[in-house]
Amino acid sequence: MTSQQQELLSLFLRLAPIDGVSHMERAIADEVMAILRAAGLDVVEDQSASVVKGNAGNLLCFPPGFRADAPAIMLEAHLDTVQPTGSLKAIVNEDRVSSDGSTILGADNRMGLSILVDLLLHSNESPGPKKNFFVVFTVGEETGLYGAAALDLSKHHVTAAFVFDCSKRPGIFIRESVGLYDFTAQFVGKAAHAGVAPEEGISAIALAASAISKIKLGRLDPETTANIGKIYGGEATNIVPERVTVEGEVRSFSPDRIREELRRIEQTFHTSVDGCGRLVFSAYSDFEPYVHQPDAPAVMELEYAIRRAGLTPKPIRYMGGSDANKYNAKGIPAVNIGIGAQKPHSVEEFFLLEDLFKTSEIAHELIKIAQ
Ligand SMILES: [Zn+2]
Repeated sequence: MTSQQQELLSLFLRLAPIDGVSHMERAIADEVMAILRAAGLDVVEDQSASVVKGNAGNLLCFPPGFRADAPAIMLEAHLDTVQPTGSLKAIVNEDRVSSDGSTILGADNRMGLSILVDLLLHSNESPGPKKNFFVVFTVGEETGLYGAAALDLSKHHVTAAFVFDCSKRPGIFIRESVGLYDFTAQFVGKAAHAGVAPEEGISAIALAASAISKIKLGRLDPETTANIGKIYGGEATNIVPERVTVEGEVRSFSPDRIREELRRIEQTFHTSVDGCGRLVFSAYSDFEPYVHQPDAPAVMELEYAIRRAGLTPKPIRYMGGSDANKYNAKGIPAVNIGIGAQKPHSVEEFFLLEDLFKTSEIAHELIKIAQ
């Protein structure tokens, strides 16, 4: 291990055990600000804490010499973890870092965080001219990409954003990502005594069951999936149930397919309850899909950096979202890249040391101007 690699690993081991579950990122945000400001960097915390109902905002970090009026690339990771890491005991083995099995490791996304803090601290040390770049650390990613959604980039001319938050190994990146919409359908019948006057009731559970049986779920086509994940309602076994709520989602690489499927579900439900009960249906966007062409500038830029780091670029299509989806929706070409934080959101979470160092190399290559 080189001294630079040792320093990066130490930084991860310092940042990972600082608690920062979503919307409670104050401690980790303060630590990152203290490290960067002590090194003379300019760090701005935005106003998003109140928007996302948390105790910290997004951090915008500018290296010395950053030009606010010039085009820039943005590198990004999120501050929050899905569960607390305060009692983390990280174990460094020969080839990997894991927890002791009692907590998550928090490599999602403290690995991306450490790599980018380290990049900011050392960006001036490698030879050659650098791109105009800045780094953003977001809050509230795990609960719904809230920090990224609230991030105001209108003052900056961001040409491409690179998100260091994909659990795949370095070299892999998400060129195409689905969009996700959630829907809620409330079926309303009529309550009545189940034994004395069942004829006077309309069972909302029967309405929902009949309606659900008429729609298609699962993989609808190679681009699209639909699921019903929650159903709740009813009062007691001796009451004909008046209300049942059904919650589901539709994902697709095509925004048109998402809207088409949501319309189909809503219409099918409406037709099914028509004349018997009532339906209240609503749907909202969690995040929009993105699809980059193989020759899109952001993709070419990333593939160049991956090759320079000695890896083969592997673009993939992915059925999950990230902060990159929010930036693409704002009109900023963004890609989520593999960092190798494996088995995220579980106590088995780990990463390989070689992946930490390779991802760091990719980050360093990304900010170099191609010679
Ligand atoms: Zn993550």
